[in-house]
Amino acid sequence: MNRKQRIMLIRIIISASMMVVLHFIDASGALGFILYMLPYLIVGYDILLEAISGIIHGQVLDECFLMATATVGAIALALYEGSGDYTEAIAVMLFYQIGELFQSYAVGKSRRNIAELMDIRPDYANIEADAGLEKVDPDDVAVGSIIVVQPGAKVPIDGIVIEGESSLNTVALTGESLPRDAGPGDAIVSGSINMTGVLRIRTTKEFGESTVSKILDLVENASSRKSKSEDFISKFARIYTPAVCIGALLLAVLPPLANAALGNPMAWGSWIYRALTFLVISCPCALVISIPLSFFAGIGGASNAGVLIKGSNYLETLSKTRIVVFDKTGTLTKGAFEVSGVHHGTLPDGKLLEYAAHAESASSHPIAKSIMSAYGRPIDRSRVSGIEEIGGSGITAYVDGHRVACGNERLMKMVGAKTIPCRSVGTIIHIAIDGSYAGHILISDTLKPRSAQAIEALRSAGIQRIVMLTGDSHAIAEKGASELGIDEVYSELMPDGKVEKVEYLMASKMQGSKLAFVGDGINDAPVIRRADIGIAMGAMGSDAAIEAADVVLMDDDPMKIAKAIRISQKCLRIVYENIVLAIGIKAACLILGALGLAGMWLAIFADVGVMVIAVLNAIRALFVKKL
Ligand code: ADP
Ligand code: MG
Repeated sequence: MNRKQRIMLIRIIISASMMVVLHFIDASGALGFILYMLPYLIVGYDILLEAISGIIHGQVLDECFLMATATVGAIALALYEGSGDYTEAIAVMLFYQIGELFQSYAVGKSRRNIAELMDIRPDYANIEADAGLEKVDPDDVAVGSIIVVQPGAKVPIDGIVIEGESSLNTVALTGESLPRDAGPGDAIVSGSINMTGVLRIRTTKEFGESTVSKILDLVENASSRKSKSEDFISKFARIYTPAVCIGALLLAVLPPLANAALGNPMAWGSWIYRALTFLVISCPCALVISIPLSFFAGIGGASNAGVLIKGSNYLETLSKTRIVVFDKTGTLTKGAFEVSGVHHGTLPDGKLLEYAAHAESASSHPIAKSIMSAYGRPIDRSRVSGIEEIGGSGITAYVDGHRVACGNERLMKMVGAKTIPCRSVGTIIHIAIDGSYAGHILISDTLKPRSAQAIEALRSAGIQRIVMLTGDSHAIAEKGASELGIDEVYSELMPDGKVEKVEYLMASKMQGSKLAFVGDGINDAPVIRRADIGIAMGAMGSDAAIEAADVVLMDDDPMKIAKAIRISQKCLRIVYENIVLAIGIKAACLILGALGLAGMWLAIFADVGVMVIAVLNAIRALFVKKL
């Protein structure tokens, strides 16, 4: 509890104790009024002041105004009727404040919880200086500086290890608790914790561009993208509160007037009392607080599991997903190709690989990486010029002055080289030099071990249609899909062909349901953007993927997709539960109040009770471990 909350608690205790004492002494008349006003003002003076300032600023329908009017009205009524019973008005104020205190405590606590979960912001970076290590603000570290990360410390900036061996804990980023090993040459991302050895790192980015900053930006901005449910609630509150207030006014005036017209005595008192009860009921607090809190908790819980969701609108869309479309390479497969053969070379094998590796030297495609690593020797970039990457087809470049084309059959057609088919199963990368066919490299990719399980999990999370798209050949695509249990496959697609397919699938889906596309951000950023919801996986350290996607999976575990969907479903279920609970109870109270069957006591109990239940329910969205 903070200072403000403690003071509030003390006010509540003092006021409540005074009420208990007053209950046993017989205080009436003017003295009674003064004695009762003490606990009332102690617990409620700030509400009264707020209400007055609200009236001055023309905001008469806020909660403070409603509470102040209801309680002051009830006290005035008691004075007018001479009953001297102020207990109810004071109790309403007291319970209202108890509710407010609980809510500010719960909201503060869950915010702190999420901040702790996301405790990845580094406080400093150690820079090597002449006099030894110097602690500096990570913002002041230039790209290419050497920083030293001690065991137990957070890696402050993305970089490459130049010295030292260690294992890194990335649980705050990925939700994965198994440590990863890092040694010289490995790229490591900020936000992970260095566990065992001292690492010297050459930074490759500024702090503001590092993974840690991107994630923090994303999480901090998530609450600014409102979901439809949140919009609905704020619109609802804008109509509900004035409507109930008008209802209160009519209730206070019409029945007594009608009575008078019929010649009966005008029983003003009891109708005014019912109207005041309406004012208490008209506070939409439970909804207004619990709905955003549910989304906030859902997004927080998801980040803790390594699933970053960019806004509550995306959380909502995700929960309505019925079609999931996958990109194959890097998403369902490891994207780590092994070169398993070099065939039909008109050049010596080594030479073919050398040309290919040089042509691929600027590409970040998994195929490029595997060819370079199969080549295994340093690349001399001065031998390469005019590199052009043709998404979904391959690469052309000049190597030692020769025009090298390296890619699939489509690319060979483009450069006018006649391919020699290959009987082996695998992804075949053809190479043409100066327009004539030079041979091909056979590479193979393997499915991720958990991909099949991930497809299963999606089906049981309610996904009705699972589709795979790939730029790879028909044979490879069919083989992979049948191993995974995916029944719908489209192969040999160019990146814009993938966009078209996704548009076609979106047009054919059921109304109200949503389509999610999952990719690795390589060659598929346009599709990620186009889908109802774009999911990028293995995004740790990849800016392109983090920027394009609505949902970012920090590691490349395909099981996280079903998990993300389950998290969203749980969160939305909680949101609907709270909406139904709060609106239902309010409606019941309004009816009972109008009939005179429920007084202010019940109204305030219902209000605070619903709020407490709704807030506790909202906090459940934070717990996603077992989903
Ligand atoms: P996927 O849809 O499976 O993710 P891509 O669209 O990235 O695959 O690539 C489709 C095909 O295009 C690959 O199977 C390969 O034949 C060819 N290709 C794409 N990029 C390259 C590259 N850098 N080098 C060689 N071939 C490539
Ligand atoms: Mg791909």
